[in-house]
Amino acid sequence: MKVLVATEKPFAAKAVNAIKQEIEGAGHQLVLLEKYTEKQQLLDAVKDADAMIVRSDKVTPDVIDAAKNLKIIVRAGAGFDSIDIAYAKEKNIVVENTPGQNSNAVAELVFGMLVAAVRNFYNGKSGSELMGKKLGILAYGNVGRNVARIAKGFGMDIYAYDAFCPASAIEADGVHAVANQDELFKQCDIVSLHIPATPETKQSINYTVVNQMPKGGIVVNTARKEVINEAELIKLLGEREDLKYVTDIKPDAEAEFQKFEGRFFTTPKKMGAQTAEANFNAGLAAAKQINAFFKDGCTKFQVNK
Ligand code: NAD
Repeated sequence: MKVLVATEKPFAAKAVNAIKQEIEGAGHQLVLLEKYTEKQQLLDAVKDADAMIVRSDKVTPDVIDAAKNLKIIVRAGAGFDSIDIAYAKEKNIVVENTPGQNSNAVAELVFGMLVAAVRNFYNGKSGSELMGKKLGILAYGNVGRNVARIAKGFGMDIYAYDAFCPASAIEADGVHAVANQDELFKQCDIVSLHIPATPETKQSINYTVVNQMPKGGIVVNTARKEVINEAELIKLLGEREDLKYVTDIKPDAEAEFQKFEGRFFTTPKKMGAQTAEANFNAGLAAAKQINAFFKDGCTKFQVNK
């Protein structure tokens, strides 16, 4: 089978070597398309591929149509909103992600940004501490669980809400489960977003939701910019000078957010999964999943069932 690794932003060399060994070790052929600049390069490369590994690369219907032999696409990472999974399903192409491989990296960044936020981004003024603060985790998935684990070390009081994870599973980790998203915002000093971008969650973090936070509230976003209603959050930050917004996903309206000096921070580009460890783990997991798919028909991580 021909396995295409199509990455606008390539894997680290160590990860590419591990992927190559894994794929070739199973008797498949590996083809690399790295740092491509034109869509046409991807359309040409995918033509005779049986499987494809991507990172944040966009897999749109035209890419899927060009890939006549394609059976499986694996997104090396968690978020798969860059792939048209419904169209892939129509064409009988399995789409998988590699959950959990970059979760610790993202969770550590949450605390990197939070410490900076409570210390006023090191502007010389006295700040506050995370210990004893109420932390709300919105979505208790792979990243959310790692955030809870690290928050325990900081001595935080931890709350979580997940639409699909039972409260008992949250409580089993020593985390308070709350009944709904509103409760999380009402009760917590800090809310960390870990919801995927879905039709239900897009634009869901809006004026009314965030305005429920107590004085000095901080929203930290390592999820997706699409879950934020930017216009409404800008309005709220304008009205409430006590609130802060820190994000790993640069907003579309960055210039307007930057006006809230000392209360807004964005990484220059999405940095959550940008560690050597996450890069390696996600790439190797993708290769292993492709081998398992061709060997045994395993679709354990399929996201378009
Ligand atoms: P995950 O699939 O392990 O967990 C997502 C959780 O969200 C699940 O537990 C699910 O039940 C819950 N959920 C879904 N819809 C919900 C809703 N409407 N309300 C409440 N909970 C809901 O994913 P993850 O690995 O924890 O990653 C979470 C998100 O973080 C990803 O979807 C991705 O968008 C983002 N992410 C960002 C980076 C980065 O570089 N900043 C890296 C990895 C992931």
